Amino acid sequence: MSAVNANRVVVLFSGGVESSCLLYHHLINGQIVYPLYIRAGHPWERLELINAKRLWRFTRLKHKNLMPIRVASFPVKSIRTQEVFIPLRNLSLVAIASALAYCLKASSVSIGSLGHYPFEDNNRRYMQELESLIFKGAHRHIKVEAPFMEMHKAEVLRSFENIVPFDMTLSCMRPYIHSSRIFHCGSCQKCQERYEAMSEAFGYVSNKPAKLIK
Ligand SMILES: [Zn+2]
Repeated sequence: MSAVNANRVVVLFSGGVESSCLLYHHLINGQIVYPLYIRAGHPWERLELINAKRLWRFTRLKHKNLMPIRVASFPVKSIRTQEVFIPLRNLSLVAIASALAYCLKASSVSIGSLGHYPFEDNNRRYMQELESLIFKGAHRHIKVEAPFMEMHKAEVLRSFENIVPFDMTLSCMRPYIHSSRIFHCGSCQKCQERYEAMSEAFGYVSNKPAKLIK
C-alpha cells in the first residue's frame, strides 16, 4: 500500500456559510483541499451546486491548493422524516467522504458541523468513534475533523471576516433564478439562520441576493 499524504484533506463543501469557512480554514492551513459536494436529492441542490462551483472558481484564483470539486450522490429523499432532518446525516456524509479520502490517499476528512444541533451523531465523541470504525474497516487511519464543533455559527463567521466571500455563499431551501441570477428566498429556515448569524457576527447581513450565473 502506498503512503498516505498527510497534507490532503477531503472537505464536505456545499457553498453555504459554514462549509465555505471550512474550505478556507483548510486552504489557509496550506493543506491540499479536495472539496466534495454530496447530493441528497433536495430540491435546492441544483442551484446550490451551480453556486458552489462559482465560489470554487473564485477561490481557485487565489488558492492553487484547491483541487477540483467532486460530486457524489446519496439520495435520502425517500427516508427523510422532516423537511431538514436526515437520520444519521453525519455518519452518511463522513462515510462517503472517507471512501473518497481512502482513494485519494488523504489523511483526513472535514465536516462543518457546529455541534449545537440536538442530533446524536453530531458531537466530537461520535466523530472519534467514526474514526475508529473507519480504521477497523479500511486498515488506514483517516482523521475525522470537525474544527467548528461546539462553536456557534456567528462565532465561526466572525473568525472568517474578510477571508470568506460571504456574499457569494448560498444557504437557502428555496433559492430561485431571476435574470440569470440566483436569489435567496429570504424566508426559509436556512435563510433565517443565515440572517441571524450574519447579523450577530457583523451587525449587518451580506445577503446581496444576486448571484451571477456564468
Ligand atoms: Zn431561503
